[in-house]
Amino acid sequence: MGNIVAIVGRPNVGKSTLFNRLTGTRQAIVDEMAGVTRDRLYGKAFWNGVDFSVIDTGGYATNSDDIFEEAIRSQVLIAIEEADIIVFVVDVVTGITDYDEGVADILRRSKKPVMMVVNKVDNNERIAESSYFYALGLDNLYPISAINGAGTGEFLDKLVSLFPKNENEEELDLPKFTIVGRPNAGKSSIINAFIGEERNIVTPIAGTTRDSIFTRYNKFGHDFFLVDTAGLRKKAKVNEDLEFYSVMRAIRAIENSDVCMLMIDATRGFETQDQKIFNLIQKNKKGIVVLVNKWDLVEKDTNTIKKFEIMVREAMAPYTDFPIVFTSAITKQRIHKAIEASLQVYENRNTKITTSKLNDTLLPLIDKFPPPSIKGKFIKIKYVTQLPTQSPTFAFFCNLPQYIKDPYKRFLENKIREHWNFTGVQVNIVLRKK
Ligand code: GDP
Ligand code: GDP
Repeated sequence: MGNIVAIVGRPNVGKSTLFNRLTGTRQAIVDEMAGVTRDRLYGKAFWNGVDFSVIDTGGYATNSDDIFEEAIRSQVLIAIEEADIIVFVVDVVTGITDYDEGVADILRRSKKPVMMVVNKVDNNERIAESSYFYALGLDNLYPISAINGAGTGEFLDKLVSLFPKNENEEELDLPKFTIVGRPNAGKSSIINAFIGEERNIVTPIAGTTRDSIFTRYNKFGHDFFLVDTAGLRKKAKVNEDLEFYSVMRAIRAIENSDVCMLMIDATRGFETQDQKIFNLIQKNKKGIVVLVNKWDLVEKDTNTIKKFEIMVREAMAPYTDFPIVFTSAITKQRIHKAIEASLQVYENRNTKITTSKLNDTLLPLIDKFPPPSIKGKFIKIKYVTQLPTQSPTFAFFCNLPQYIKDPYKRFLENKIREHWNFTGVQVNIVLRKK
């Protein structure tokens, strides 16, 4: 289950500094492994054994002054709805502003846990000043310095203790799929096409505390959950344009699933926002199937599918090993194929290869094409093993792991993909000293 923290507050209080501190170096490593450009809005953090996502709402602020307040207000409302914990940042140097009072007003009325972080408490004198912020009527006040780290340990201890516990312990161990994509791509329509065919096959299980809905699909020999957020169904369309809203919604759905069907609108082609969602899926190391929907509206000749495939794969490069299914939610063309592809990716994601098979296959190839020597130093890979992680990770043990560069890692990844089916799944390569 996803743990989502949203950072809210007015500009310049230090949201982005706090975001960087929380997501820290770990994020840089994750991004480097996934090969994605660093995103300052959304990152992964880890404290006391708890993984969580952090969203900096400040990154979504609009440039237009007129709608500035309105935009921030709606961001706070969305954050309340979609995040598990709200971190409200205020600035001890400027003190309480009208804006802070406005946000506090909204937050006091919400049922989500709120932590008020009084930032820029860089020294002890400022600790006393930070208690003025109790006037905003919120508990859980934490003086911190996002810049030098003071107070952040205590703040994080409390933060991770506030995540809702998963009450659905004996939840069935079935694959969880979700459909993400830009507004109007056809997500609701395809969900209806899946589950609307025969209503009685559907068992909606009330979500856990986080409002997620798992709809069980048990038909034609398939058994899995379609993960939806409550928002996907009931949310007013007015919010749909807000990129922030779509992103929040997508993050929640992605975190709660094993495989994500990324739905692209065939009539619009591949857009930047599709790329962003793709990156979110990658960051979370979930399986991926691309659905090119509204295929019924596309004028086709014999090469249309090929051309589209090439276009999508080029846009996603260097990740090219994932299924693409051309669907129509309206005519139901290939919607079962979308499910089958997702099940296959789920299986690929759970593939465990024995150490002996890995070594028997890969060591001879490595012998033939060893890593290039650097500064006259000879690099020797001794063995490889799959780590017991959720998404496939392979550890190569060698004498000088720091000298193995990305191109050689890609070579190793490609060899693994050639011999085993990891379509739709990230393959992580790590080098270890031995
Ligand atoms: P945001 O607009 O809320 O994301 O704020 P930023 O993170 O961009 O920070 C705004 C300014 O406040 C920057 O100049 C930061 O260096 C500074 N700042 C952030 N955190 C602290 C802090 O803990 N102490 C001090 N003294 N300055 C800080
Ligand atoms: P969502 O915002 O991603 O959930 O998109 P909807 O499911 O609400 O679909 C947006 C619009 O596209 C609706 O008018 C649908 O009827 C239409 N639509 C969705 N899928 C298809 C499709 O495969 N073919 C055609 N022709 N229209 C579609």
